[in-house]
Order: sequence, then structure tokens, then C-alpha cells
Amino acid sequence: MSVDGPEADVLRQSRELLERAVTPNAGAWDRAQEMDEKVAGLLGAQGLLVPSLPEQAGGRGFDMELLGRFNEQAGRACGSVRNLVGVQGMVAHALHRWAKPPLRDRWVPRLAAGDVYGSFALTEPLSGSDARAAATVAERRGGSVVLNGEKSWISFAARAGVFLVFARLDGHVAAILVERDTPGVHVTPQVDLLGLRASHLAAVRFDDCEVPAEHVVAQGALAFDAVATAALDHGRFSTAWGSVGLAAACLDASLDRAVTRQQFGAPIGDHQLVARMVTRMVCAVDAARMQCEAATRARGSGDRDAVRRTLIAKYVASENAFAVASDAVQVHGAYGCSAQSSVERHLRDAKIQCVIEGTSQIQETQISQLTLTSWRAAQRRSEALGPSDNGR
Ligand SMILES: Cc1cc2nc3c(=O)[nH]c(=O)nc-3n(C[C@H](O)[C@H](O)[C@H](O)COP(=O)(O)OP(=O)(O)OC[C@H]3O[C@@H](n4cnc5c(N)ncnc54)[C@H](O)[C@@H]3O)c2cc1C
Repeated sequence: MSVDGPEADVLRQSRELLERAVTPNAGAWDRAQEMDEKVAGLLGAQGLLVPSLPEQAGGRGFDMELLGRFNEQAGRACGSVRNLVGVQGMVAHALHRWAKPPLRDRWVPRLAAGDVYGSFALTEPLSGSDARAAATVAERRGGSVVLNGEKSWISFAARAGVFLVFARLDGHVAAILVERDTPGVHVTPQVDLLGLRASHLAAVRFDDCEVPAEHVVAQGALAFDAVATAALDHGRFSTAWGSVGLAAACLDASLDRAVTRQQFGAPIGDHQLVARMVTRMVCAVDAARMQCEAATRARGSGDRDAVRRTLIAKYVASENAFAVASDAVQVHGAYGCSAQSSVERHLRDAKIQCVIEGTSQIQETQISQLTLTSWRAAQRRSEALGPSDNGR
């Protein structure tokens, strides 16, 4: 897959913006555990914070191909900026598609512009992978709903102006928009994470937190099966391509090191065991990119297999990114173990890609389940058609 024509210009501009405003600062933001406040607005002003929204909603109308490539660029520049683009997209797309017009029109343009951060609040202290077991409750009270419960490990919650909260309402999970200044919202930053350290994680507690009933974005089966599932699918696509960018950055840094660093009178890349690591990295980056391209094609054509393809892309790309980043640190030796190198940060960020938007183990489970389901369906179809003439 290659991008050319006007779309290549769009990607050149976004790359230049990231290389100018993000790449040189990513290490400092990681160490300070704080991203420059201006980044969201800078991306938002170019329609790049939620680029797959239509232009009239503040995006750039990116198709799947452009969205994927842009996430690759962001992942190459900074894991936390890629996470920002992923999460802001999850919240903005959910509101754009499912919220009633007054709520949608109040928040989507501000999210797209980067005037406000949005958080996707699903995980709780006692429910992570088993997200449907979320214990946060919402009760109807007159024209309001009242939330009680706690979310944790929520990206950008320390800065968020709105939270898309998943809570149990009328016996089902509902998606409810909670504004930060609502009485009863308590935000506690969660710091000193392994990676994505500039992602402003926080725990959010709701104590008798009352919001208008119109803030219920979706309820019943729709809330989890459509809103949460679509948002996580979007997040996985972003994480998958972002992981390709991270791994490609590690490969480039390692190639440079392999030809410039001399040991035993030769560039280290000339030593066979280093060359083997280079080969492993090249193959892992290519394999991840091919899976992402397959997912991109499936999503772009509305293929029924798109969800499974996206799971495969996220699983392969995140696991490969971790392996590539680990080899990159090895190729760099002591320098790679220090904060002076970018590969040390990439290794820490890469591990997180294997945990967020569904852990690798959950994806292994889902990929096999979806594959077996479609295998069985195909078998039933062929049995219903009866014996074929083939082979007679
Ligand atoms: C940097 C970062 C940012 C995050 N941002 C957000 C966010 O914005 N919004 C949000 O809602 N959440 C967010 N999370 C939380 C993330 O989604 C969860 O960490 C993830 O879903 C896993 O849940 P858990 O941590 O509770 O692990 P657990 O579910 O407790 O899993 C622990 C281990 O058990 C394994 N495991 C669990 N169940 C099974 C099973 N059935 N079969 C096989 N293995 C299993 C897991 O794979 C894992 O290895 C973030 C986390 C991090 C680290």
C-alpha cells in the first residue's frame, strides 16, 4: 500500500508538524510525566486530533488509510501523543455518532479542536479485562442520573474536561457523559507508570454525582455492544499503527547505531549476532505493517472480517513492537539503557501497547473465538449445500 497525490502532501505536513513539535520533546515529557498543554491545540488546529471526523465536525475526513498512517507517524514521535489521538478519537467519535445533538454539538467541536480533553472511562479497580463486570452504578432520580463508583487507569483523566463513563443503569451498562466540574467528581492522578508517562492517567471517583438524563449517550445492549465496542475497535486500530511507528523508530535508531558504533575494529552491524537482531527487527516491523494494512483494507471496504483483522493487527503490532524495542536496547548497549536514548522510552511504551485496548491474552482469546466461529459457519454452509462434484 502506498499513498500518493494530495494525500501524500497531507501526510508530509503531519509528519513535519510531529517532527517539529513532538519528537524533540517526547523524552522530556516522559521524564516530567507531563505533555506540553499546547500539543492538543496544535494538532486540533490542523484537524489532526480527531482526523477521521468530517471537516464540519472539526476533523480532516481522513479515510482508514490516512488515519492509520497518521497514527504510525504519531507512534514514531511519542507514545503519549499517539495515545492522546487514540483516546480523543474514541470519545469524540462515540459522541458524534451516538449523542443527542445538543450534547454532541456542545462537545465534539471542542474535543476536535483540543480545547478540552476527553477520557474513556471503562476500567475499574476490580474490573479490567472483564469490562462488563464494571460496578459503577447510575440511578435515575427525577430528570437526572446519579453516579457512584470508581474508574482507574484512565488516560488523560487528570486533564479531562469530560469523561465518557460506563456505568450500570437499569440493570445494563450505559455510556454516560460526565463533565469534570460536576459536584461529586474526584480525580486522583496516577503517576510513575512504566510507560506512556505523559498520558496524565488518573483514577476518577463518583460520589452521588448527578448529571442530566440527556447525558446518557446510550443504554441497554447498545451501550456496550455498539458504543464501547466501536470505541475500543477504533482504539485498537490506533494502537496497532502506533506500534508500527514505535517499532520503525527503534529499527531506524538501531540501523544508525549498527553502522556507526565500532567494536573489535568493525561496525557492530558486521558482527553476525548483531546482524541477526537487525534481521529480526526488519521482519517484525514488516510483518506488523502488513497486518495493519490488511486491517486497513478490511475496514475501508466494510468487510465483515474487519473487527478480527483489527484485533490481529493490534496483537501482532504491539507484541512485535515490544520485541523490536527490546532488541533495539540490546543493539545500543549501555547507551540504550539510558534516558539519553529514545529506545529506552520506546521499550517502556511498547510494553504498555500489549496491555491497553485489551491485553494480548484477551486478544489471543478473541482472535481464536472469532476464527473458530467463522470456520464453523463456513462448515455449516457447505454441509447445507450438500456434497459437491469436486473430486468425483
Ligand atoms: C497506560 C495505560 C493507559 C490506560 N488507559 C485507559 C483508558 O483510557 N481507559 C480505560 O478504561 N482503561 C485504561 N487502561 C486500563 C487498561 O484498559 C487495562 O489495564 C486492561 O484492560 C487490562 O486490565 P487490568 O489491568 O485490570 O488487568 P487484568 O484484567 O487484571 O489482567 C491481568 C492479567 O490477566 C490476564 N487475563 C485476564 N483475564 C484473562 C482471561 N480470561 N484469559 C487469559 N488471560 C487473562 C491479562 O491478560 C493480564 O495478563 C489503561 C492502562 C494503562 C496501563
